[in-house]
Amino acid sequence: MKIPIRPKVIIRRCPDYDVQRIRSIIREGLEELDLVPHGRTLVKPNTVASGDSFPHAYTRPEFLEGVLLALKDRAVEPLEELAVGERCGITIPTRRAFDGAGYYPMFKRTGVKHYHFEEEPQVEIALSHEGRLRDYVFTPQPVARADFFVNCPKFKSHPWTTVTFSLKNYIGIQDDRHRLIDHDHRLNEKIADLQYIIQPQFIAIDAITAGEGRMLTPSPVQLGLVIMGNCQTAFDSVCCHILGIDPATVDHLRMAHERGFGPIDLESIQISGDVLLAEAQSLAAGFKVGLIRVEKYFEGSKITAYAGPPPDPELTDYCWGGCPGAIEEAIEILRLYDSQCDEKMPRMHVVFGAYKGPIDAKPGEKVVFIGDCATWKGMLNGSEVDVPCVYRDRSTLDPYKATHEDIYAKMYKVAARLSSTRKHGHVRLEGCPVSVAEQVLALVSLGGTKNPYFSAKEAVSFNKGYLGWKSAIAGKRLMGKPYQIRGPAERGEAAPDIK
Ligand code: SF4
Repeated sequence: MKIPIRPKVIIRRCPDYDVQRIRSIIREGLEELDLVPHGRTLVKPNTVASGDSFPHAYTRPEFLEGVLLALKDRAVEPLEELAVGERCGITIPTRRAFDGAGYYPMFKRTGVKHYHFEEEPQVEIALSHEGRLRDYVFTPQPVARADFFVNCPKFKSHPWTTVTFSLKNYIGIQDDRHRLIDHDHRLNEKIADLQYIIQPQFIAIDAITAGEGRMLTPSPVQLGLVIMGNCQTAFDSVCCHILGIDPATVDHLRMAHERGFGPIDLESIQISGDVLLAEAQSLAAGFKVGLIRVEKYFEGSKITAYAGPPPDPELTDYCWGGCPGAIEEAIEILRLYDSQCDEKMPRMHVVFGAYKGPIDAKPGEKVVFIGDCATWKGMLNGSEVDVPCVYRDRSTLDPYKATHEDIYAKMYKVAARLSSTRKHGHVRLEGCPVSVAEQVLALVSLGGTKNPYFSAKEAVSFNKGYLGWKSAIAGKRLMGKPYQIRGPAERGEAAPDIK
């Protein structure tokens, strides 16, 4: 891990998604930073969600194309490989996300390789730093063996972590089953831990049209900026300052800084480019970030939310990285696909964590306890209800044995769980976390809104991506390729083959 002694962040003006303009800005950035791509060069965009329904959630293809062309321009020796790789939002095939983002024709035009990370072998990376959540994590093989890593995120707000810039983009260097582990109230620590896997030599963020307020369905804000850098913490710190946020208040950024990944104070960072920080700040004036507690988020709607502390109450009184934020994204997705969503939704109550207060449910109103740590005792509709905590300590979760459920399995599971509300009026959705996809399915089932997974405009591309993913995995299995690979830290045990 080589962190520049005095990192640099370059802020450049770029009013539109003109590929050639982006290409020359990026090429000049690489020159200024004295960076030359080499060996296996891998570019990681943010394609958490894409397509017409999520136009501002992802790194735009024109931006990525400009970055790829500039990398080619700057290469002195022929690259062993130039590739783009990503694991998009949980349960969605990355093939679907790349299709929706319009990446495939661009891959063809530029002649670069691409990786759907969930279809690649996952490599164990040992961790040994103080304060780690676990002793090893997994990452897709193309990340583990990259010689020149380029982080290419989208400039956005985030309901779990305030913002998503460079450090947070690392959530997409893990496949679902590994990504969901620790994606809870310790999410910021997880993001800091992922930094030990690899550090990018170059970062370029798509801040031409930024995403405000949320991460999947953000509102567009025209910033007209391309920001580049050579150090994750310095880069994210400058992005925070553009929004007027103290970088030390973004926990994963503060932790990465404290662990030696680079500075966050502006005095230690060189800032250059044709846009002064003060001008960038005025362009972003009033930009809304995430971090709205769930009780507040649903105020004025037919859903009443209640949140108690997650496990480890000494660390936090609210689970910022898990179930509560997921339901905020879930309801926004439903609103996108069904304009009648709020009218159709019956009065209901959702409960998170160790909530101790009253639940004001009238007869016939459903109560949904969301997540393994939800716990409550009291009277509902004249009956005594005792919902115990079923949370399992993270030390009992072994990434080698983690399993993954695809969306069709989730549909079945959620439907089966919710059928019990007909009898009891309340139900628990199990999981830690209960993902956005599961909460979408639960709200569809309880509210009778349109199911986004069955939307005509999504279904064809989704199923094409899904079948492509499953066939690719089956083909690799037939050829005897492993899904998980033991890393350099030999653990003296065989890696179980996860189905
Ligand atoms: S069950 Fe949900 S709310 Fe509870 S700790 Fe896990 S992610 Fe957080």
